[in-house]
Amino acid sequence: MTAFDLTGKVALVTGGNGGIGLGMAKGLADAGAAVMVAGRDADKNHRAVEVLGGSAAAIAVDMAEESGCRAAVEAAVRNFGRLDILVNNAGINIRKAPQDYSLAEWHSVLNINLTSLFVCCQAAYPHLRPRGGKIINIGSMMSIFGASFAAPYGASKGGVVQLTKSLATAWGSDNIQVNAVLPGWIDTELTKGARQQVSGLHEKVLARTPSARWGVPEDLAGIAVFLAAPASDFITGTAIPVDGGYSAQG
Ligand code: NDP
Repeated sequence: MTAFDLTGKVALVTGGNGGIGLGMAKGLADAGAAVMVAGRDADKNHRAVEVLGGSAAAIAVDMAEESGCRAAVEAAVRNFGRLDILVNNAGINIRKAPQDYSLAEWHSVLNINLTSLFVCCQAAYPHLRPRGGKIINIGSMMSIFGASFAAPYGASKGGVVQLTKSLATAWGSDNIQVNAVLPGWIDTELTKGARQQVSGLHEKVLARTPSARWGVPEDLAGIAVFLAAPASDFITGTAIPVDGGYSAQG
């Protein structure tokens, strides 16, 4: 087995049926992992399984429900017999001024982006502990920076980084590495909405990103394989930007 070989490993990717999640799921599958995709939309799930080919399966669940998170973990174990890698990627945003959010909107963003991530980690832990494992949590540039139009999202993504550190310290002696990935601006359904709602966003992102382009979901495949593979066995509790240099530029 090479440092980047995932043959025989089983991964669960929440929100793995499109966007960044599918980009990472494809990376993991290409490196040899069997992948369980969890998302609400059964058609998107079906198409993702076709893209992933080979050892891939999907479950239609709502990660807003504790039972959905637990069902996704159990589906991976039931289908493939074990769990080695958990990618917590499912996420949403609601964009408006801070003073305009209802409490229900605040809770819905925090619930998917942070609470369901915690529940998935809890549900995965008993399956990861016997052999060690990998948890990859998806943060954001808004784990670092504020955004006037995304207060609950920023709070949730800041929480993802701090939760990552706590889980890394708690489970390090179980040989479970827990890391966060902070994507820059990536062209997906989520950011299509942002470009429509936030005037000038497209140009601002291009101007600030040293790589001079938006990212694509495939840009996240490499970091997913690295953080899922033996190559990263002594790396835990970190938050790694994959942003074309966006966070390096003031
Ligand atoms: P997409 O909207 O393309 O994908 C979001 C995914 O989350 C979908 O697969 C969706 O599946 C799933 N999802 C959302 N809500 C639920 C739910 N209640 N239950 C189950 N699944 C759910 O967005 P991205 O790919 O852009 O985002 C993926 C992650 O990356 C998010 O955590 C986002 O915050 C983060 N991110 C994205 C950035 C970007 O520029 N695109 C930048 C930084 C971070 P379904 O529709 O089937 O429910």
